[in-house]
Amino acid sequence: MYTIDRITEVPSDLDVAFNKTINKFKKVATKLDLEPIKCDLLEKNYKKQIEFDGTKFLVTFNKYHIHGAVPVLNGWSVRARIDAGVHSENIIRSVVDVPERFRDNSTFCEHCNTNRKRKKLFLLEHVETGEWVRVGSSCLKQFVDIDEVDSIINNFENLIRFLDVDLNPEVNESYGKSFPEIINLKSFLAMVIHLTKQYGYMSGTKARELDCPSTGDDALYVLTNEHDSNKKIREEVLSNTGLIDQATAIIEYFKTIEPTSDYERVLSILAKDEFLIPRESNYAASMYITYQRIHEQQNASEQKVNEYLDLELKKRYSNMTLNLIKIITCESIYGYSYLHIFEDAEGRCVRWFGSKRLGEPGVYNNLSFTVKGFDEYKGVKQTTITRVSQK
Ligand SMILES: [Zn+2]
Repeated sequence: MYTIDRITEVPSDLDVAFNKTINKFKKVATKLDLEPIKCDLLEKNYKKQIEFDGTKFLVTFNKYHIHGAVPVLNGWSVRARIDAGVHSENIIRSVVDVPERFRDNSTFCEHCNTNRKRKKLFLLEHVETGEWVRVGSSCLKQFVDIDEVDSIINNFENLIRFLDVDLNPEVNESYGKSFPEIINLKSFLAMVIHLTKQYGYMSGTKARELDCPSTGDDALYVLTNEHDSNKKIREEVLSNTGLIDQATAIIEYFKTIEPTSDYERVLSILAKDEFLIPRESNYAASMYITYQRIHEQQNASEQKVNEYLDLELKKRYSNMTLNLIKIITCESIYGYSYLHIFEDAEGRCVRWFGSKRLGEPGVYNNLSFTVKGFDEYKGVKQTTITRVSQK
């Protein structure tokens, strides 16, 4: 009975990582002369409605049957990993039922008989006697007396992590309060918007430069940490319909984009899956900033009128108001000349090419000029003016 025999559902975007994990684990098993673990694909790319944080969303899964031997280390078999929370209950990650006495939230190591604070412990079962023991991760090498135990355990832990990706709430509850490896994108974005409004936006790249947490890191922390203060922010944000509506709009937008870069492809996948895993937090957070930038540009261009000025050719006008957007300086053998690009109040494009430079960009409401021509450049109707002066 020292085997794994389990049907597991893996979100399809984790499929590559899952298969890598299985293959690495097979190698470890072979080293220890164990029958390699088998992994049969039962069902591919089916959608399932999942409820998370009280929100329902569709996730694409692949279903696998995993069966084979669990590594035995000098008679001991690793049955579970315990993640000890500093402010929360222990999380027992296991593929089998563990004895009730280990659900006591303690970090007591039965190898060194001490009860100091630990982050990670293991539950081992002796394959012959059936005896169970709890050992701190730093004592494990000594306890089983195998040098390469770290590599075996690392691979086994990765496997457990995937086997734990089971979104059935009943299963999660029976293993205590589980750290959500899968985070609802809508809740996450609502948190990102809230944090950005409070503290400004910190990208993953900038955060690495400055060695501080990114907005994505912060959002993840507040959403998953069990501190009372975080619980309170979480409740506030997730019940704020304004924030949730904004998050929904962002997700809907990225669902419909035609990706033109790898970056956009990632955002599109995240939006379609409507969830993220922790290492995708900076990508997911950037959805908000990217969305805002695109929509600011769109709003600006939507307001513009693509028409010529309603003026007569070759006629001189005075007391005209134009907004100088920018000046492009051109250098030639005759010296400098300046291309001035203006807009009128409705966004009609006006250009003036002259040897004189008007001044800094901004609104000028005392201009005199003569209309020189009407032409189109890259689909934009432009009115050209000449002999421009200020009163
Ligand atoms: Zn110990």
